[in-house]
Amino acid sequence: MSKNITELDLSTLVEKIGKKEISAEKVTAEFKSQIEKLNTRINAFITVSDDCLSQAKEIDRRLANGEKVGRLAGAPIAIKDMFCTKGLRTTAASKMLRNFVPTYSATVVERLRAEGAIVMGKTNQDEFAMGSSNETSHFGACRNPWNFDYVPGGSSGGSAAAVSARMSCAAVGTDTGGSIRQPANFCHLVGVKPTYGRVSRYGIVAFASSLDQAGPMTRTVRDAALILEVISGHDEKDTTSATKDVPKWSENLSAQLRGMKIGMPVEYFNHGIADDVRATVMRAADILKAQGAELVELSLPLTKFAVPIYYLIATCEASSNLARYDGVRYGHRADFSKQAAADLEEFYSRNRGEGFGSEVKRRIVLGTYALSSGYYDAYYKKACQVRRLLRQDFIEAFKKCDVILSPASPTPAFKIGERIDNPLEMYLNDIYTTSANLAGIPGMSVPAGFSHNKLPIGVQFLAAHFEEQKMLNAAFAIEQNLKLTAEVPYAIQ
Ligand code: GLN
Repeated sequence: MSKNITELDLSTLVEKIGKKEISAEKVTAEFKSQIEKLNTRINAFITVSDDCLSQAKEIDRRLANGEKVGRLAGAPIAIKDMFCTKGLRTTAASKMLRNFVPTYSATVVERLRAEGAIVMGKTNQDEFAMGSSNETSHFGACRNPWNFDYVPGGSSGGSAAAVSARMSCAAVGTDTGGSIRQPANFCHLVGVKPTYGRVSRYGIVAFASSLDQAGPMTRTVRDAALILEVISGHDEKDTTSATKDVPKWSENLSAQLRGMKIGMPVEYFNHGIADDVRATVMRAADILKAQGAELVELSLPLTKFAVPIYYLIATCEASSNLARYDGVRYGHRADFSKQAAADLEEFYSRNRGEGFGSEVKRRIVLGTYALSSGYYDAYYKKACQVRRLLRQDFIEAFKKCDVILSPASPTPAFKIGERIDNPLEMYLNDIYTTSANLAGIPGMSVPAGFSHNKLPIGVQFLAAHFEEQKMLNAAFAIEQNLKLTAEVPYAIQ
């Protein structure tokens, strides 16, 4: 019985709870016991909510009284530790914020709660969402539930591991350059980065504000669509949030793709792509064709610049956003009781030197350098100009196709420790994901197979601005044909 509950997807659970076939309390208790069983080994959660059972009991009470409950009533959801949660510690996986308890919640969290979701806790991630492996976390690495020797991806690695190991039935993450899609890809999940502006950034710890977007990580496409409906929509507290209506994506899913054009950019199948990954994408292309879609070859010649531009713009914005952690208003304060700071500069540098980890420091230094007078024009300004051209290339490409199909990352999950000492190698892993953030377009990854050594492999879909339905439908077609959603990670069986 207990296995059955944690194996159900979110839509099914919400339906059963709504019909009072199972109680929200029972559902939450099952996922919670999975956390108790596995979290010490997987390290997916930094903080577990101590009130998740009472949140669930409140849903049951309302159902018993015939009161209205929301679209996610009783669904256990894990929240990446980038989202502020009122009264619940929010660390961004940094020593800098290890004791920070926000006085308000992010709009995403408010909206999930308003629809009855149960907040299970805060998930592990790379520090300040900087990384692709979850290894830069102050709270230690997180393990991939498919094989504990491997990374779950990053930066939303804890969110991916939590859902994959059935510690929650869905999660929300943030994606600045791939941090939802890549860990979803490494852990056999659906992960959606919506169009920039779809989802409010209010209350999310800022990394690179012109790239950051929040989105769902789930076991099925329908669940991702449903959560996306809940968290999307205008928010007056975020001036970059779009005023577009929010479609009912989950109700309009269709695996029938007749008339849909699927673009395959030649540059996405070049060097460095693992054979298993290439074969998986090609198999997905065959499925889409069989569903009525037409495949078209495309060229996105600026692809080779995506990683360099991303790592310039993201670090520049991060160096500015992270200036607020000075140990006065926010963040870690060094111990000055034995040795006082000689001046303000020493005060700041001791606070920041102790509070930030090495990857975060590397990025602050890089960003500050690229923004400094004399280098600004050569680096930051140039990167912004190429970014604009890259965006234009996508707009042109989407005149020739509805959706782009590509790998989500060049290889399946890699081993813990394998790349952490080589930042450049780590950054190159983001080759297929960063473009969507730079262009502001939506992107997602969906499970599509396994490697020869039994690690998950997904494929990525990209769509034009605000055309999430098209990519969700293409992903739905893959899901319906491959029928891989019920696969359970080997390491937790
Ligand atoms: N891996 C990328 C980076 O390290 C993306 C991170 C993200 O999307 N938050 O910046």
